[in-house]
Amino acid sequence: MPLEEYKRKRRFNETPEPQGEIVKKPGHRFVVQKHEATRLHYDFRLEMEGVLKSWAVPKGPSLDPADKRLAMQVEDHPVSYFDFEGIIPEDNYGAGTVMVWDVGTWQPLSPIAVQGKYVPGTDAEAATMLAKGDLKFRLDGQKLKGDFALVKMKGRRPGSKGNEWLLIKKHDDYAVDGYDIDAYDESVLTHRSLAAIAGDAGSAEWKSRPSGRGKLKAAWLADAVARLDQKKNKKIQRRKNKKAA
Ligand code: MN
Repeated sequence: MPLEEYKRKRRFNETPEPQGEIVKKPGHRFVVQKHEATRLHYDFRLEMEGVLKSWAVPKGPSLDPADKRLAMQVEDHPVSYFDFEGIIPEDNYGAGTVMVWDVGTWQPLSPIAVQGKYVPGTDAEAATMLAKGDLKFRLDGQKLKGDFALVKMKGRRPGSKGNEWLLIKKHDDYAVDGYDIDAYDESVLTHRSLAAIAGDAGSAEWKSRPSGRGKLKAAWLADAVARLDQKKNKKIQRRKNKKAA
């Protein structure tokens, strides 16, 4: 059961994260979330087999083929996690601030290159490559584009859980030498920096946001609504104070 570990780790009455289910229709989206938890890292997620296959990348993805980025495979996440941005409350699993750093679509690449170039592959090939620990894919995101590979590291290093992969950019037109991820501290959903999301009163009060507006699917939307409500409440209060004076 791919989502069991995800659910086991979370208390959904305390965290705004989605509970989620396995989705039947095949999708090919990807998301990278910047996550300021105990340690800053990026969560790289590919929509695959009805869930988000997930890797925690401490240094984040890079467009420089010289950077081989350590990527720890973590539990599958529900597809509804796709646009989660906001704050996971203290004392909860992964407590901290989450930014939707990049979104887009991906396609599997055939394991066999044609004349040195990678060509589109099938979902079946992707499933086989994932199982073998050498997944090649093409990204079409707002920040990340071009061909990549996730390669599982062979041989366990002492203390490792055997979940270590490397995220590697292939050489193509989208490769950028010396890519500096810190220069791109902006949400693709709300254009906020991580600090802005963390310090945002709307985000911080996620849990106490007014209900009765129907279920808001995306946390960032809930944030925006909460902030608006706050402004409105302040205005009403000011008007009341004026009347009283
Ligand atoms: Mn994370």
